[in-house]
Amino acid sequence: MSLERIDRVAVLGAGNMGHGITEVTALAGYDVTMRDIKDEFVEDGYESIEWSLQKLEEKELIDESADEVLSRIETTTDLEAAVADADLVIEAAPEDLDLKHDIFTDLEEYTSGDTLLATNTSSLPISDIAEAVDSSERVLGLHFFNPPVKMDLVEVIYGEDTSDEAAEAGYEWVESIGKTPIYVRKDVRGFVVNTIVGPFGGEPAFMVSNGEATIREADATMVHERGYPMGPFELGDLTGIDVGYHVRKEGGDPIPPITEEKVDAGDLGQKTGTGFYDYEDGDGADYEPEDAGDFDWLRVEARMINRAAFLVGEDVATPEEVDTGVQLGLGFPEGICRRGDKIGLDSVLEKLETLFEETGEDRFEPHPYLKELVAEGKTGEDAGEGFYNYDDDSLGPYHDLNYDLENGVLQVELDRPSRMNALSEDLLSEIDDLFSSVDTDEVRVATIEGSGDRAFSAGADISGFTDANPTDLMDVSPGFETVNDFPRPVLAKIDGFCLGGGLELALACDLRIATDRSSFGAPEIGLGLIPGGGGTQRLTRILGETRAKELVFRGNHIDADRAADWGLINRSVEREDFDDTVAEFLDDLRSGPPIGLKVAKKVMNEGQDASLDAALAMESQGFGLLSSTDDVLEGTTAFAEDREPEFEGK
Ligand code: NAD
Repeated sequence: MSLERIDRVAVLGAGNMGHGITEVTALAGYDVTMRDIKDEFVEDGYESIEWSLQKLEEKELIDESADEVLSRIETTTDLEAAVADADLVIEAAPEDLDLKHDIFTDLEEYTSGDTLLATNTSSLPISDIAEAVDSSERVLGLHFFNPPVKMDLVEVIYGEDTSDEAAEAGYEWVESIGKTPIYVRKDVRGFVVNTIVGPFGGEPAFMVSNGEATIREADATMVHERGYPMGPFELGDLTGIDVGYHVRKEGGDPIPPITEEKVDAGDLGQKTGTGFYDYEDGDGADYEPEDAGDFDWLRVEARMINRAAFLVGEDVATPEEVDTGVQLGLGFPEGICRRGDKIGLDSVLEKLETLFEETGEDRFEPHPYLKELVAEGKTGEDAGEGFYNYDDDSLGPYHDLNYDLENGVLQVELDRPSRMNALSEDLLSEIDDLFSSVDTDEVRVATIEGSGDRAFSAGADISGFTDANPTDLMDVSPGFETVNDFPRPVLAKIDGFCLGGGLELALACDLRIATDRSSFGAPEIGLGLIPGGGGTQRLTRILGETRAKELVFRGNHIDADRAADWGLINRSVEREDFDDTVAEFLDDLRSGPPIGLKVAKKVMNEGQDASLDAALAMESQGFGLLSSTDDVLEGTTAFAEDREPEFEGK
């Protein structure tokens, strides 16, 4: 069973998840058959795919037409026809074990023995579903998140019998459709992501039920002080209070009284008009930053970190996988293991022990792995080791960026796709760390780009601003300056939004190439702020005062063609030509003389701030310095011999 063999995919179910999974599969170039039990269900699902693909086409988010993608999708109500030739079957039928058993019993009959059989279940054990199949080593979980087209994460789950071969084939297939897989190595309830999110909603609900907090206090604190994309109660209303209730009930977990009350009253959240907030007669989730108060956020985060300790300690997932899971699956501002390491695992343990002693409630009982880490002095970042090791001499570990250094090109990817690569303090300090500690002798040129398909970077992460000390915010973030001063050319590869802090990072680069769908702007003024990462100054230097003030004062977006007209970027190119254009630039920069480029960059950057006389003196000095280098000798010799020079940076 290997990826080379996966050509045809069958998806069972054309509902919410099934149609989305079908769409992403076809988008990745696979032939896929979508099956449901009635024509009308198949048609509804197909229409949703058509609508979504048309949107993607209009927004130029796909390189081919919607019709071309649709031509790879077949639909049917006939199970045998759907799966007979499939190399991978993904079941996305309703969450009912008996129904899934029936489906997998049929799959055993209609598929060949080496077809990979996956289920998209959220809460049923993979091993229970696999019982229906004799060859249960080929059954695995492929847990997509809703909506599959937007959500990058897929959990690849081992049932008790799943073979490594099957799990690896599933993992590689997920990568091949451009999604990010994480392994869930044991069939634990909630897998990785839902294991962590449980206490996020549950603990605040207990606290409110006990009169220890209010709903608005909890939501405001978690969003405005701790950076979560939504408050726990707001999230409960959005997903449906009954959903969390049933998950807890089925798992035999205690149910917070307030949750029980809401379910009994039929107030299930947005779908019924009222839940924790009132959406019919009220303003919905109307909490404000000043509602935050003294809410005990550590109690909530300590429980999530304790769950992470369970997942890591029991070898269900690595800290990296847990963190990728919560960032991509839940939009958490940083990984939960990483957050534990920052808070200090000793403080986390102490919080749990105190609560366990006071209440005797099992949910506070610290997991042995957390105790073990603390006992070994691995209490987190300050101690040099916690979930992660920080003492390593190599670069990183980085959580919010990826990098690759090959053939003299340092490629840096901002890796917060769920936040459109917004620049958080952590991300900026990782950029600073990478650019100041990488061995520049190994680098000829660097590039910076965004991950995901929407943005280079859509701004600064402003969650936490209202809470921060103004004098802290007045320090210029070192990340921008480190990029600006990096002694090699840095090229920004921009595809999508390049706004606010993201624009400032691009401005700190030397060169900027963008796809023509990209847009640029400095929207800070709309928040009552001004650009704070060098934007006011660099824009003025690059564009001149007239255009710089237009961008900063109006806060509007401009498109890539105007940005190119204005000289904000070097090129605006169609998406299909983007990689080639970037490659042409990189070829020149990589083969150019490293010292010559370093001196050119320095003299040009610093000369801007000096008088013309001083700048000319800098230039002459640079010129003189270069004339004695081996590279200049090589350059002039190659010129005389009519060949390409081979610079060595000496
Ligand atoms: P849904 O009710 O929207 O869709 C299920 C579809 O399956 C329906 O169209 C139904 O007619 C069809 N169906 C019923 N019996 C079938 C059969 N024998 N063969 C093929 N199709 C059949 O449900 P959904 O939200 O798409 O969830 C599907 C699965 O995905 C569930 O296991 C659920 O737990 C899981 N899941 C859901 C979400 C979510 O947010 N909705 C997220 C991740 C995973």
